[in-house]
Amino acid sequence: MTRILDSHVHLKHGDLARTEYSPDIVVRTMDAAGIERAVVFAMSTTTSESIAMAERAVRAFPDRLIPYAYALPSYERPVLAELEDAIANRGFKGIKIHAGECALREYIVDPVLALAGRLGVPCLIDAAGNLGATERLVAAFPGTTIIVAHMGQYLCTNGRLIDQFVDLAVRHGNALLDLSGVVLSWKIEDAVRRLGSERLLFGTDGPDKAPDTASHARLELAKIRMLDLSAADRESILGGNLVRLLRLP
Ligand SMILES: [Zn+2]
Repeated sequence: MTRILDSHVHLKHGDLARTEYSPDIVVRTMDAAGIERAVVFAMSTTTSESIAMAERAVRAFPDRLIPYAYALPSYERPVLAELEDAIANRGFKGIKIHAGECALREYIVDPVLALAGRLGVPCLIDAAGNLGATERLVAAFPGTTIIVAHMGQYLCTNGRLIDQFVDLAVRHGNALLDLSGVVLSWKIEDAVRRLGSERLLFGTDGPDKAPDTASHARLELAKIRMLDLSAADRESILGGNLVRLLRLP
């Protein structure tokens, strides 16, 4: 049976209301959609609070939830040590960066990318459509796996921009694309043809109340299932790739 793993779930979102979802709602949503495990993280908060929130969630559902830490510079203290402690000592499997809250400039994010490479964990980056910054990062850190959220831009309707993000992944083997919030779904078929399925990850970017959390997750899943793909490609995208990337049991 195909294993379904969600590579992009928020305990706290970056929307205007900074909406939080309890681990219970996250897991109930997964159950409703048939999702076995999910990567969870919080944004719109400090790195240390993001770590605490993900730890609480994973403590409640250790077999279902996989924690990422959120990287955001702080005036109070350096966050690199907090990120390293979370990954080295607390079972965190990756780092989330969001261009909406953290500029992707070299003097801000490069130390985080270097740390991720050194510790062997991926960085999930929402680049908010910033192709140039993404290209610089994947080129500057060939030893760091960079997961580009939403194939480059959330709900992007600019097919040309999506093509450019796929081109970028073709050129740089350390770049993966997450398929959450991709509305031009035929671009996913293009990406499989040009890039191969190994570097594409299913994700819901949930929970999302529109229309309700279960339907949102089911719709994201249906989006992948409706694509004209081989069974092997579908299996890789829906879970196999994340299992290999994070070395999950
Ligand atoms: Zn997201």
